[in-house]
Amino acid sequence: MTEFGFIDHIRRRFADLPDQGFEGIGDDCAVLPLGGEALVFTSDLLTEGVHFLRHATSARELGGKSLAVNLSDVAAMGARPVATLLSIALPPDASGVWAEEFMEGYRELSARFGTPLVGGDTTRSESGVTINVTAIGRSPLTHLKRRRDARPDDVIFVAGELGASGAGLRDLLAGHPDTPPARIHRNPLPQVDEGIWLGGRPEVHAMMDLSDGLASDLRHILDESDCGAEVELERIPVAAGADLRTAACGGEDYKLLFTAAPTATRQLEEEFLARFGTPLHRIGRITERAGLTWLQAGSPVQLDWQGFTHY
Ligand code: ADP
Ligand code: MG
Repeated sequence: MTEFGFIDHIRRRFADLPDQGFEGIGDDCAVLPLGGEALVFTSDLLTEGVHFLRHATSARELGGKSLAVNLSDVAAMGARPVATLLSIALPPDASGVWAEEFMEGYRELSARFGTPLVGGDTTRSESGVTINVTAIGRSPLTHLKRRRDARPDDVIFVAGELGASGAGLRDLLAGHPDTPPARIHRNPLPQVDEGIWLGGRPEVHAMMDLSDGLASDLRHILDESDCGAEVELERIPVAAGADLRTAACGGEDYKLLFTAAPTATRQLEEEFLARFGTPLHRIGRITERAGLTWLQAGSPVQLDWQGFTHY
């Protein structure tokens, strides 16, 4: 069974249980509305040998990255992260200095975004480090952005350049751990302030973060919103060191992907640039017709591009 097949199976098997007020599986976070506000919850697992190689990243960087990927999912809802829980399984060769440095990296990013570590679990591992972080966020209910809210004619934006992380992974695996893209791959910075700000903009409709690559993640918005999209290849912002295919298919960029009403996008772009010092990138539009169409010089091109799936 694929990852998404398994998630679908879970969704179906648990559909008849009481929801206790929660919005169900399928978005970047689970949502619990409480009056005019909502709490959001997300959890990500990082396993040695699958998500990271201990010799290719420092403990400190891994501590930051474990937190960053979860804060990114909170930001993807337009919510403010407020706290995290950390569960970690440590083998004997990672229990001393390695664990302390890991926590330093985790603390550094926690301090930057003001998120206390409020609980978790610590255990021994027979082999390999396993890390699970849960992040909790809160938001006015009306600010939440879900994957299901894209509408035909919406403009599709990404809030940063793409492909640096994928190019960095390629460098790491080729034995070049210190190139600029490799450093970006090891030190992703979640767009927390950007997500909260976009949450407050009613013209922003659907939003998510890019963890598996544009080619794969955009399909989640299309499936959940029951629509299609046209993406102009020339408009995909390719990060330094990356190529177009890596920008479209590489994972772990953790930039925000969102759709916005076609009226007033100019103002959104101007205000975003003034506030964050980096531009929004308009890459295409939502269509009523289903499916993801890549356009080159305005004409459809056949590409078998898939996102990269990190389990
Ligand atoms: P993301 O990339 O934003 O972390 P995923 O693609 O990992 O999201 O997950 C898609 C959806 O499936 C999310 O809503 C997530 O909470 C849910 N999900 C994934 N694995 C499980 C699981 N084992 N049990 C319940 N829900 C899950
Ligand atoms: Mg996500």
